[in-house]
Amino acid sequence: MEWEAVVGLEVHVQLRTKSKIFGGASTAYGAEPNTQACDVSVALPGVLPVMNREAARLAVKFGLGIGALINRRSIFARKNYFYPDLPKGYQISQYEAPIVGRGTLQIETQTGTRNIGITRAHLEEDAGKSLHEDFHGMTGIDLNRAGTALLEIVSEPDLRSSAEAVAYLKTLHALVRYLDISDGNMQEGSFRCDANVSVRPKGQDALGTRAEIKNINSFRFVEKAVDFEIERQIDRIENGGKVVQETRLYDPDRDETRSMRSKEEAHDYRYFPDPDLPALVLDESFIEKVRSELPELPRARKARFESEYGLSRSDAAQLTRDRQTADYFERVCSKTSANPKVAANWVLGELASALNHHNLEIADTRVDSTGLAKLLDRVADHTISGKTAKDVFLLLWNSDQSVDRIIEDRGLKQITDNAEIEAVVAGVLCDHQAQVRQYREGNQRVFGFFVGQVMKRTRGKANPKQVNELLHEKLK
Ligand code: ADP
Ligand code: MG
Repeated sequence: MEWEAVVGLEVHVQLRTKSKIFGGASTAYGAEPNTQACDVSVALPGVLPVMNREAARLAVKFGLGIGALINRRSIFARKNYFYPDLPKGYQISQYEAPIVGRGTLQIETQTGTRNIGITRAHLEEDAGKSLHEDFHGMTGIDLNRAGTALLEIVSEPDLRSSAEAVAYLKTLHALVRYLDISDGNMQEGSFRCDANVSVRPKGQDALGTRAEIKNINSFRFVEKAVDFEIERQIDRIENGGKVVQETRLYDPDRDETRSMRSKEEAHDYRYFPDPDLPALVLDESFIEKVRSELPELPRARKARFESEYGLSRSDAAQLTRDRQTADYFERVCSKTSANPKVAANWVLGELASALNHHNLEIADTRVDSTGLAKLLDRVADHTISGKTAKDVFLLLWNSDQSVDRIIEDRGLKQITDNAEIEAVVAGVLCDHQAQVRQYREGNQRVFGFFVGQVMKRTRGKANPKQVNELLHEKLK
């Protein structure tokens, strides 16, 4: 029997608001436990929630960014459940009328382009955090995170493999960073997802029973968790068992998913409209203002990089994968007379590998766009060779000196004086009569030997093009 996997993702994006979604406490990460827990966060009796306007703006920005329906009127609802990190006994979320309705997200995988349906995106508050370490048999509760603004983005069950799930997540992650609605920091939990996974016989329309894997916070774990779950379900069914609808946890140490609890149905949550909050009504001018502030998005930017800079599809895709890299590349191009394709090679080659080697983000690069632009100029105007430029790049990375200073101090300037090179070429040929004879008898391969000798005598500084031309001329 051939099986088909079906995956739908629920992604929780922490919105970049200074204060909480319904209260005034700060949302800054990393503070001492419970120092950012205001009366609303701890749910003191009688306090009332007040909606944060910025959270609505960021949610609308996301909706417009994926061309989704923006609901002019959305409703906050109470999702009731009992858990120690939820002092109110309910989470304020949106249920029947979310702020963002249907949209699509285009993803690229190795098998091509696909449009993945987005069912909805709704605003909600985050819960607090349970702390299990350091409390010896007790659980500590930190309510700093309680009430932080989240946008939950729910996909249709349109994904068919772990690779597609990862591509979808990466595309979404890049998008929220482009839109600047979230810092997207996965270690800090600003971007995390639940993966719903089921399998069905290939060709069958009806969906199989799904398991939901909670709170995965890295791309690699999503891939592993989904793959494990697909295998587990197929195995189970092929051995005469049944998949049960349940919530599971992924354990990265053992690379497996484990059952956590049986899955609640929506009716278990006793959703009802929150009487403390009026409907969230958006007027057209608010939406239009947000629309006018939308930045150029990854897909448009990629197309422009191809047409404006003449880059290949793959270079354009890699450069626009995150906004910071794309910005850096454009800054370099605006400051250098070098060909944009050369600039792209440097950003994706030397710069990317240096960042990778030092485990740095492009924001922390030690060679800024001005430095790289200058370096490319010096190759373009033949001051240094492309090969020497790689050495200069490393020197630039490791020092505070300017490009010109490094070239000057270390005497790296290329020799472009024809007479000077010609003299060296003549000397090399004179000293290697035997090889000259071989070449003239038809052994073309010794040509490389002559080039090497000239380079050796000029300590790599002779202009390679001139060396080639002069050698050809003298060996005629
Ligand atoms: P909840 O998980 O809160 O009960 P939904 O029923 O709306 O919410 O489903 C949430 C997610 O599960 C969506 O992303 C949806 O695409 C996905 N999903 C629903 N049914 C299946 C299924 N049979 N297989 C895989 N994913 C599914
Ligand atoms: Mg769910």
